[in-house]
Amino acid sequence: MSFFVITVLIAMTTAFSPAYGEPLDFFKDTYEESDINFDEIFAPIRAKNSLAEVYQFLYPQGIIKSYYIPAEGTQKNILVMISGVHGVEGFTGSAIQRYLLSNGFNVRNTALLMIHGFNQWGFKNLRRVNENNVDLNRNFILDRNHFKPDDSQYSLLNDFINPVGQPHENLLEHGLFLVKAVYKIARYSIEPLRSSILRGQYSFKNGLFYGGKEPQDQHLMIQQLVAKYFKPYKRVMLIDLHTGYGQRGKLHLLAGKAAESNSQELLKIFSESEVDFADKKHFYAVQGEMITYFGEQIFESTRADVVGVTFEYGTLDSQKTAGSIESLRRMVLENQDHQNPGSPDHNKIQNLFKEMFYPSDQQWRARVLTQTDERMKKVISYLNQ
Ligand SMILES: [Zn+2]
Repeated sequence: MSFFVITVLIAMTTAFSPAYGEPLDFFKDTYEESDINFDEIFAPIRAKNSLAEVYQFLYPQGIIKSYYIPAEGTQKNILVMISGVHGVEGFTGSAIQRYLLSNGFNVRNTALLMIHGFNQWGFKNLRRVNENNVDLNRNFILDRNHFKPDDSQYSLLNDFINPVGQPHENLLEHGLFLVKAVYKIARYSIEPLRSSILRGQYSFKNGLFYGGKEPQDQHLMIQQLVAKYFKPYKRVMLIDLHTGYGQRGKLHLLAGKAAESNSQELLKIFSESEVDFADKKHFYAVQGEMITYFGEQIFESTRADVVGVTFEYGTLDSQKTAGSIESLRRMVLENQDHQNPGSPDHNKIQNLFKEMFYPSDQQWRARVLTQTDERMKKVISYLNQ
């Protein structure tokens, strides 16, 4: 049993270090509070380890901080955790990062890199997308020169997903949305509908799931991080923290297609029932996923073994038809409101949106932490092999 696991067990059964308060206190209300708390938690770590450092990536929207602790002992593994690729989802991701860090992450031969608020603008402004309306998890196209997006299915749904004019959030509008959704489902059936929307589109710049025409600034950040930190390590594990999709209160481990080598590697860490493959019912493959690009960049530069997984904490039961319609409704409303500002229902819409990605429900938050602990035990025993 590793030091970390013991620490987690002690922390779960007794009280947390008073310096950081109760576990649920890691869930902050703003990006700024999360950022300050991250620095507070990191300060004593840096005081003890002169090689620990904060890497600052400057871009027009601010500074994205990555917290690095080199491996003690042999430089064998590096564990990378990323929060806020989808801005507003960063509240939960950031809480998880600080929770793990404050519990004294210490796995021999393993370095730790925590990228905080990957889409910082979205985190600050309660949006999933970045300042250019780009969904960063649809922007990391591997071979851009040969990439020919097919948005024909999405185009058929564009009027429904991206309505014009100021949005209203009331019973009548809610009902109308449901009627339209049921009509679309009857016409196209739910699975193709879901995947054609969620996989990303490259034609409608103000629309939902827009992947962008060009690489966003974070491409450069990934390249810089790879050049700076990854050279010594033989094995890399990437964990990308997301919320919003899947069964409420459940941590889904999202992988690529089952046959891919990354997916097979994940089965050495987690049991088959824990991993959701992209070709399984209710899940979907995404174009331009960040974690795939990150992994490729690392491999090209270091030839290390790389394994990546998305931790997705469900909030609205979107694996069911009703939940999936409600998820889409909130996303449509929020984007419509952003594109057509001034709606009298702005606050209502923003609250619905934030609750979808960052539930205020304390039980949900507690479940996020306990399930993270359970999965991290497996990650740590894999890194210890
Ligand atoms: Zn996400």
